[in-house]
Amino acid sequence: MTWQEGSTFLARYESVDGVLRGARPLRVVGERNGYLATWLPPRTICANPVLDDGRPLRAVTARERFAHTRATAMQPWRGEGILMLFPRAAAHSIWTFWKDDGSFWGWYVNLERRHTWDDRGVVTRDHVLDLWCERPREWKWKDEDELEDAIEVGVASESQAAEIRAEGERVARMIEVWEPPFSDGWENWRPDPSWPLPVLPADWNA
Ligand code: MG
Repeated sequence: MTWQEGSTFLARYESVDGVLRGARPLRVVGERNGYLATWLPPRTICANPVLDDGRPLRAVTARERFAHTRATAMQPWRGEGILMLFPRAAAHSIWTFWKDDGSFWGWYVNLERRHTWDDRGVVTRDHVLDLWCERPREWKWKDEDELEDAIEVGVASESQAAEIRAEGERVARMIEVWEPPFSDGWENWRPDPSWPLPVLPADWNA
């Protein structure tokens, strides 16, 4: 499937219980070196997984979070917009962050289940462990302890955790040799100011 520049793209997220509880409507930017680039403008209304009492997931420890029943809250995206880069066949996405003053901040590698592509976008599941990169060839793990917690409470098995870490290490090597999409110049990209905010369809969780 080819994605038209400017069209709406949906990134949808399954919760640990297998229910779709998160979604972000995005604007297609284009494909470069095997990654589809999409834009999440500031203030876009997204569906976010929350605890069933309405508190954010990070209001409790990771261990408690995995055991807690979840719900969905509609919330505007806070801060600067992000570019979300989706590989055609790999278990991660890459998010480029800018600071409020417009300067480039860094690349966040969100490890997640290999995407299921459909005519609306992708469906995936967050894999807890992430990578953060602020300068070319430098990276660090983020939330390693939470993956350990996920194993302890049975949300991830040891072998799944090993696969997740292996995917993280594979992307870390891409950072170390500074290959695409990191070297593609996305940090200098700016959105078309005439684009309206993408809208989450009412049936986003269907
Ligand atoms: Mg993550």
